[in-house]
Amino acid sequence: MIRFDQVAKRYSNGFEALKGLSFQIDPGEMVFLTGHSGAGKSTLLKLIMAMEQPSRGQVLVNNTNLNRISDRQIPYHRRQIGVVFQNHQLLFDRTIYENVALPLVISGFPQQDTGRRVRAALDKVGLLSKENRYPLELSGGEQQRVGIARAVVNKPRILLADEPTGNLDPALSADIMHLFRQFNEVGVTMLIASHDLDLIKRQGKRVLALREGELVADSQREPAHV
Ligand code: ADP
Ligand code: ADP
Repeated sequence: MIRFDQVAKRYSNGFEALKGLSFQIDPGEMVFLTGHSGAGKSTLLKLIMAMEQPSRGQVLVNNTNLNRISDRQIPYHRRQIGVVFQNHQLLFDRTIYENVALPLVISGFPQQDTGRRVRAALDKVGLLSKENRYPLELSGGEQQRVGIARAVVNKPRILLADEPTGNLDPALSADIMHLFRQFNEVGVTMLIASHDLDLIKRQGKRVLALREGELVADSQREPAHV
């Protein structure tokens, strides 16, 4: 589903954020990406979204080599990928419904089916009753769940998350992980960047560890409570 072959990324200022990474994530896997701030986690996610180009090596997503993708194909590529951010990036002057509907509007999804899709996504994150509220009327945990509903409303095959629990307390963080596992259980391939090692360990999933742009560990951990 996602393959990195000897991928390096040097930014225009000369800084090498990734130094020759190779790994593969299979369809249906749930994988954590860890490492200190500055290790290269966001850069790696941006390469998958074709927001940055590798300066060496190849990134393949769903068998498409992103080095060879045209500008015209990029929107179609991104539509297969849902993204969850730490600061959820909601539009505060739009309702919850409108925020979640936004990716469908952008992709030209048939209007008559939009309501059903948006409600299905809101239902999955337990926020159906809040569709007419505005983001600032919701708690931080609820806002993050709106961000997740928006990320999955296009039914992407891949879900990326960049520090999705960065601003949340442990109980809310555990809720978000529970939601992610539910998406994974219905076949969504997940890659979640986080530096919360305790939270990651409790999930019992594969962990890729970055240090200063290098892949220093790739472990398949056993579940903690069996
Ligand atoms: P992480 O997500 O693990 O914190 P990042 O991928 O954001 O790491 O950053 C990795 C390194 O690349 C950092 O040292 C950062 O300062 C640098 N970096 C990120 N984006 C750019 C950029 N656009 N130009 C130059 N350096 C960058
Ligand atoms: P349909 O034509 O199948 O009803 P629509 O996309 O027009 O599909 O709307 C589906 C439902 O979503 C309708 O009940 C409508 O009132 C509701 N809806 C549409 N836009 C919004 C919105 N911005 N906020 C809340 N509810 C909305």
